[in-house]
Amino acid sequence: MYKATIGLEIHFESKTNSKMFCSCPNEENNSLEEKPNINACPVCAGHPGTLPVINKEAINKIIKTGLALNCKIAEHTKFDRKNYFYPDLPKGYQISQFDMPICFGGYLDVPLDDGSIKRVRITRIHMEEDTAKSYHTKDGTTLIDFNRSSVPLMELVTEPDIHTGEEAKRFAQEIQLILKYLDVSNADMEKGQMRCEVNISVNTEDDDELGTKVEIKNLNSFKTVEKSIEYETKRQIEALENKEKIIQETRGWDDNKELTFSQRSKEDAHEYRYFPEPDLPPLSISSEKIEAILSSLPELPNQKRDRYKNEYNLDHKTIEFFVRKVEVGIFFEKAVSELISWYKESNQIKEIADEKYFEIIKLCTNYITTDLQSILKSDPELKGIEDVFVFLNKKISPENFGEFICLIANKKITSKIAKTVLLEMYSKGKDPTQIIEDEGLSPITDDSELEKIIITVLEKNPKPVEDYKAGKQNSFAFLIGQIMSVSKGKANPQKAAELLKKVLEK
Ligand SMILES: [Zn+2]
Repeated sequence: MYKATIGLEIHFESKTNSKMFCSCPNEENNSLEEKPNINACPVCAGHPGTLPVINKEAINKIIKTGLALNCKIAEHTKFDRKNYFYPDLPKGYQISQFDMPICFGGYLDVPLDDGSIKRVRITRIHMEEDTAKSYHTKDGTTLIDFNRSSVPLMELVTEPDIHTGEEAKRFAQEIQLILKYLDVSNADMEKGQMRCEVNISVNTEDDDELGTKVEIKNLNSFKTVEKSIEYETKRQIEALENKEKIIQETRGWDDNKELTFSQRSKEDAHEYRYFPEPDLPPLSISSEKIEAILSSLPELPNQKRDRYKNEYNLDHKTIEFFVRKVEVGIFFEKAVSELISWYKESNQIKEIADEKYFEIIKLCTNYITTDLQSILKSDPELKGIEDVFVFLNKKISPENFGEFICLIANKKITSKIAKTVLLEMYSKGKDPTQIIEDEGLSPITDDSELEKIIITVLEKNPKPVEDYKAGKQNSFAFLIGQIMSVSKGKANPQKAAELLKKVLEK
């Protein structure tokens, strides 16, 4: 049996006010088409004789990232020059870190879709600068834009703990989520703020030594990370079965043909001739600073998962939904806290009984993930927007939503009327109690009123009544449907069934 062994290298741009070694602004949207070379100075354009200065904010953010990923933080560290030539690197070297990365020895527990946990060890995260950007025009000219040059860049390297495309994809997604929780990077893969590279080798399961390592570059989505690994695993296994030699090389990914292709043979680290950056002093990081950053960390996705499980008893799928769509999770929590105090007040109880508590929470999550989602998705104004939930707060406040769930839980509205009320809340922004009052949507609680409706329905439908009496059960359901319709959804279906039976038996 063959086995793939995979390590990832992930680059992500840090979200800082200024660039890594100069005071130029670090702006998110700096495409050539709009305003090329507006954020550039002699330092980040690589003029000889200029001196870099370390960006403190970028250092704080990489420490924050390292701590969130269970890394150790170096007390003493330094920057190194990585020497190579490329037109987008006019200095002839990139300032990076070689043997003393700021963060090292960490790990991340990644929840997989089947509910299991995959631990991936993190070798290191180091700090470096991004390069400028080359644009190749149709007439064969290459233009260089320095807006991106020297933007702070973190590089994360994992141990070869990953074995499938799915694990790699989930790991990268989880890293992106953590970066967003930490607010250290926007990590948008389409914008190139996060870039993944895959190292992959294949060997037989009883082989102690790893196979020849192949690197796949230019993966610009999570899907391509997964697909390229699946393709490459298959390609290498086939080659080994045919007794072909795997070449150590860098391969690219062709998104249209969905395959990897050879780009160049891989260079080794010594070819970059790394040496300590003489223009920057070594860096010391105090334990006080590390402590301070550690205590300022926000709640992380895995902590939130545990809390959602313990506090709300949510299932795996719902937890993932709320953890990955951060705004919806916040909306849910606000709605629940509103809902619980409303529930206690309206039922005049001090503590809410356990079973009832989880029942109400479940009702709340169900309405968010089904009814609310379908309302948002069918709003023509939100057409084409992928994350429709971003617009939730603007349309319905969590307080009103909590109140709405409480009205259902307290049987102040039927589930049929609930749909109408929710739609009204969404389109008019009103609170649900007001809507029910204004439009007379309270359920029918008076039995004699309901009985009147039933008698009208029976008079209008003599045939189904006859059929029912002849033993046709379907006719009963039809009559209930008629009662619900005549009452405009305000009848309680169970109550209606009870009374209908009584009347029919008379
Ligand atoms: Zn600059």
